[in-house]
Amino acid sequence: MITPKMKQLVAGGSVIRAMFEEGRIMAEKFGAENVYDFSLGNPNTPPPAAVKEAIFDILENEPEMMVHGYMSNVGYEDVRKAMADNINRKQGTSYTARNIIMTVGAAGALNVVMKTIIEPGDEVLLQAPFFGEYLNYISNFDGKAVIVSPEYTNFSINFPELEQKITPKTKAMILNTPNNPTGAIYSEQDIIRLCDILRAKQKEYGHAIYLISDEPYREIVFGGQNVPYLPCYYENAFVGYSYSKTLSLPGERIGYIVAPDSLEDFEGTVAALSVANRILGFVNAPSLMQRVVARLGDISSDMTIYQENKKELYEALTSYGYEMVEPQGAFYMFPKAPGGDDKAFCEAAKEERILVVPGSTFAGPGYFRLAFCVSRQTVQNALPGFKRLAEKYHLKD
Ligand code: PLP
Repeated sequence: MITPKMKQLVAGGSVIRAMFEEGRIMAEKFGAENVYDFSLGNPNTPPPAAVKEAIFDILENEPEMMVHGYMSNVGYEDVRKAMADNINRKQGTSYTARNIIMTVGAAGALNVVMKTIIEPGDEVLLQAPFFGEYLNYISNFDGKAVIVSPEYTNFSINFPELEQKITPKTKAMILNTPNNPTGAIYSEQDIIRLCDILRAKQKEYGHAIYLISDEPYREIVFGGQNVPYLPCYYENAFVGYSYSKTLSLPGERIGYIVAPDSLEDFEGTVAALSVANRILGFVNAPSLMQRVVARLGDISSDMTIYQENKKELYEALTSYGYEMVEPQGAFYMFPKAPGGDDKAFCEAAKEERILVVPGSTFAGPGYFRLAFCVSRQTVQNALPGFKRLAEKYHLKD
């Protein structure tokens, strides 16, 4: 018999995945070119050629028993060193291999961190709007998600509400920058303010409050803004990084955790992260992909298409009367849902064969998320439908 908790999760489903499936069915019915699917954050720009070259070269030239075998649960030592060196070059940190735990993407990283620090009943703060899967990652370990409503003017941190919601049970906060679903990048000023608040609360309650920086979109930034690196501002910070978006490899499941020396009980924490990676059943991050990303350094997919899509969509949609904060990074925008009812609007959009996701999926009701990691053609062909929707909702009246 399946557990009541799983029954609930099955019934709740994933709105995004359901829309993705719906898109597939619509594509069969109307032809893929006539369906404008902005539902899933699945990169459409191909991985750089260097990925394929590295795979072939590794398969040809590295010892196969090593390439395909088990290794330490935290990953290959040389791969972790390559990750540490790369971060050090960019962030001025002084990490070594022991600060890096290779993981099964950012999702694996977050679950490993949660397993390590969350006890049943511990509270984890989430600044809305946020990636809905966080709720599952927290409930996997019987933690309690505490949602802080957004500062709607620019989707920055809502400090008054945040301060109110920190309690003696607060164990962590997950922060995602650049943000899915808004494209916001939290400013350095806000990060400093946040860290001051958490530090004061750590002192008051006498235990660590961790900041977990979820960074799959770190390299996708439109205006050259700085994305503050949280461990440079706060001692009890973890980073979860992923190559899913930067290298367009979401199916390959490769990422890592950064666990800085400044963490409370660093040695114990790293030992626990390693065990968590093993006993959650990941065992280790995919071996071939570890070896690939170690060779790639700063090479990434060509992400100019995201910049072009963002520009075209932002200019067109705002000219039709949609209201939104201009995204600064990632490949999402989060406009206000015309009519105010996000679910009703997403249903209406389907009539134009446009698939977008209700903001309530991200704790942002009244908005909708548009993932613009799609082809230029999809953007261009979808614009007349967005215009008709704007007219239907009298956005310019
Ligand atoms: N965190 C955020 C904010 C995401 O948007 C995603 C995927 O879309 C993930 C984590 C999971 O990424 P990964 O594929 O690396 O597990």
